[in-house]
Amino acid sequence: MQLSWIELDRAALHHNIQQFRQRLNPSCALLVPVKANAYGHGLTQMAPAFIDAGVQWLGVHSLEEAQAVQAMRLECPILVLGHIARQELHHIVGTSMRPMITQVESIDVLAQYATQRQIRVPIHLKVETGTNRQGLQGQALITLAQRIQDHSYLQLEGCYTHFANIEDTTDHTYAMYQWETFKTVQRDLAQAKIHVPMMHAAASAATMLFPQTHQDMVRTGISAYGLWPSKETYVSLQHESQQPRTLHPILSWKTRVSQVKDVPADAFVGYGCTYRTTRPTRLAIRPVGYYDGVDRRLSNLGYVLIHGRRAPIRGRVCMNLTMVDVTDIPQTQLEDTVVLLGTQQQESISAETWASWCGTIHYEILARLPAHIPRMWDVKTSQMTKDT
Ligand SMILES: *Cc1c(COP(=O)(O)O)cnc(C)c1O
Repeated sequence: MQLSWIELDRAALHHNIQQFRQRLNPSCALLVPVKANAYGHGLTQMAPAFIDAGVQWLGVHSLEEAQAVQAMRLECPILVLGHIARQELHHIVGTSMRPMITQVESIDVLAQYATQRQIRVPIHLKVETGTNRQGLQGQALITLAQRIQDHSYLQLEGCYTHFANIEDTTDHTYAMYQWETFKTVQRDLAQAKIHVPMMHAAASAATMLFPQTHQDMVRTGISAYGLWPSKETYVSLQHESQQPRTLHPILSWKTRVSQVKDVPADAFVGYGCTYRTTRPTRLAIRPVGYYDGVDRRLSNLGYVLIHGRRAPIRGRVCMNLTMVDVTDIPQTQLEDTVVLLGTQQQESISAETWASWCGTIHYEILARLPAHIPRMWDVKTSQMTKDT
């Protein structure tokens, strides 16, 4: 019997992908990033499922992630969004991986490998438009693009940029400034007679809010997993759009009660004696702690769901254990299902709610779900659904 597991909802995944595919121009490719262990959902589960659902490209951060995707033989292009060390660049030659390049040093190395093996290597240049993270701009960009175009074994397949300030605001002035900057770069490239088949800029928020930024590909992360990038994005879209859009979270996280016990009034709970009962209290112990992804900032904060009711966390979150108050859920029994993230009867706990408890964003909550939690699709055995 699993004591802690992540459930993945395949119908939700298909719903989310359809929501995007329906609104994209047929010539616009849909890339879903599966970096950070597929936003905590599990790379090995999610990468093939996205491809099955009609996603054409996958995005990863590192060479190691790209190699893990490649080992699954999905036959889709894989865009590596982070830097690849020069001595590792030879690994991508002759594969479906596309490196993101921001400097001439990497191009020189790639050119050498590509020429040696006489294999054409497609490249995506990252354009700096104001996020001031990865990217290059101005004459340096044009010169590098020219160099790639002039090389017989290098192909400038794409140029892309990334917006800094869509999710955090309903004022999109800065995003529009970045968009105009990117358009200017595109004009400069065209003027220099440099042909780039794929221009792309939009992550989830821009994909939903600014159809003009779709161009040849969108890179839809968080919303492919069924979450809004932010409240601001949700509000902006409701404000502008006639077409309602629904997203369904794919991930739930569950555990089981490992002990039920009664303690008297005035009893301390957990390390540091930070909680003291005010009445005779029934506690349920859960076999998950901060090692297992329950942020220690949730100590004495937040709740879980048992029998569709809220059970508040009492005392400090331990390394592998957490205590919750089930005094008002008297039917609680050993090995009952506990929902940490997801829905049970009429109650839900979203990653956004967890994030607000922890003072962070839902991206971080998901991305930090430990790799050791088993991930499984659509758990529907009678045993699992008995009490959910
Ligand atoms: C992660 C990432 C995305 C996806 O962002 P979401 O907000 O999750 O849609 C898009 N583009 C780049 C370059 C990224 O690194």
